[in-house]
Amino acid sequence: MSTLWQNALVIALDDEHGSTPFRADVRVEGDRVTAVELPHSVEASGPDAPRSIVDATHLLITPGLVNAHTHSWEILVRGTSDPLPLEIWTLLSYPPSGVEPLPERLIYLRTMVAAIESLLGGTTALLDDVGELPDQSPSTIAQVYAAYDAAGIRATCTGVGIDVPIVDRLPFADEVLPAEILRASRESMPPSAEVQEAYFGFCAAARALTTGRPRLRFAVAPSAPQRVTDGFLVRAAAEAREHGEVLHLHLLETRAQQTLARTLYAGRTIVEHLDELGVLGPNVTLAHGIWLTAGDLELLAASGATVVHNPLSNLKLGSGVLGWRALHDAGVRVALGTDGASSNDTMRMLDVVKTTAGLHTLTDPDYRTWPTVDEVLHAATVVGARAAGWGHEVGGIAPGRKADLVLYDLTAGTAFTPLNDAAQQLVFAENGSSIHQVWVDGRLVVEDGRCTRIDADALLAEFREAAGAYLAEALPRWRAFQSEMEPFVREAYLRATNPSHEEDHR
Ligand SMILES: [Zn+2]
Repeated sequence: MSTLWQNALVIALDDEHGSTPFRADVRVEGDRVTAVELPHSVEASGPDAPRSIVDATHLLITPGLVNAHTHSWEILVRGTSDPLPLEIWTLLSYPPSGVEPLPERLIYLRTMVAAIESLLGGTTALLDDVGELPDQSPSTIAQVYAAYDAAGIRATCTGVGIDVPIVDRLPFADEVLPAEILRASRESMPPSAEVQEAYFGFCAAARALTTGRPRLRFAVAPSAPQRVTDGFLVRAAAEAREHGEVLHLHLLETRAQQTLARTLYAGRTIVEHLDELGVLGPNVTLAHGIWLTAGDLELLAASGATVVHNPLSNLKLGSGVLGWRALHDAGVRVALGTDGASSNDTMRMLDVVKTTAGLHTLTDPDYRTWPTVDEVLHAATVVGARAAGWGHEVGGIAPGRKADLVLYDLTAGTAFTPLNDAAQQLVFAENGSSIHQVWVDGRLVVEDGRCTRIDADALLAEFREAAGAYLAEALPRWRAFQSEMEPFVREAYLRATNPSHEEDHR
């Protein structure tokens, strides 16, 4: 299969052009871009002529967006709450008990919603920190992979590892939680060695499922430093390195986590602790990274790790605002993510792109520190591809790179009218409604608002019915658990976020 787009407007995000739009012919053969050259200079006839030749004068071709942090589990609990702090929100979105295993078909359908929503919005690759409850297994992740494979999206999927009881991931737990809750939570967590065996066995099985499937990858994912023991973390890092995989962690998303870290790591920061354990490296992808010190930034930059900025989730959960300029000045790579569909509550990356471009004007009146369109587009593509484990192969348009492309019709709607600067308008004006086609790995996966490889209408209808039945039984229980726990967790949250209290304990 080969295609030639003639005289397209291109935002390549490659080393030569960055985000500056230019006119070019773009040729794709098989799964790769083979030529990006001056308009009407790529051979369109003769023995090597492309099968399909398109006059692309009205099209903008960009690399697909990369969503470097999301959780497909949360599709189920989309739209279940007002803005809430993470520590309270999580009680409903990830109940630590009382979750009946989802029928495998429902896991498949749920993942399909993530794939459909992503592809229709121009996302060609995602890092899904799956977060399966009550437990992940080779058969649950097989459903996740099957859905992404069928939809045609590029997906890096994790297994989430946790071997610390939920109460011990909360600051002041012993002071704010009733003794029976503390005891029950701690007794319900098996010994770490047992959890590790199960987890790394799962990793091997999940990894094997990606063999021979070029668009699928596995990532090792201890949930967060404070949610796993050091032994777990070190083994996970070694395993990810051994297999050339991403090591994915949540990092300092909230003030409460920063407060907890002070007690856990004897005055050192979480990043200093990760550094001492030898966990950090260029394959490490850290979601959030909001509450970092200047020293943390130096360590992260030196390690080559990537931080994933999830501004909409951070806003909904009141987590804080990532230090966009400080990270960039320190040389830390920053990618973008939607986070899960109940802290955002969508997987539309263009929303994240626009929010990123605007949010950081609030933090500093010096406008020279504000994000540039060029930085934001790089974060949403090139850096995201690296964060999701695709390195240089994905994220930019250049000969030899994977053909993960979004084609916007500049004449389809109003976002690019009048056409002043396609990059500016992509970030600030476009919401996905101009998308004409989406290509992943050289295959057409979306055309004019419809997924080409699956019957999205039928799958979504089936999901609505199956999810409705499951949630009718489950959601009231999860809500009850959240209500029961909220007063205790609120107390911990308030103590952790109250500056005068913090002064007392320094
Ligand atoms: Zn997350």
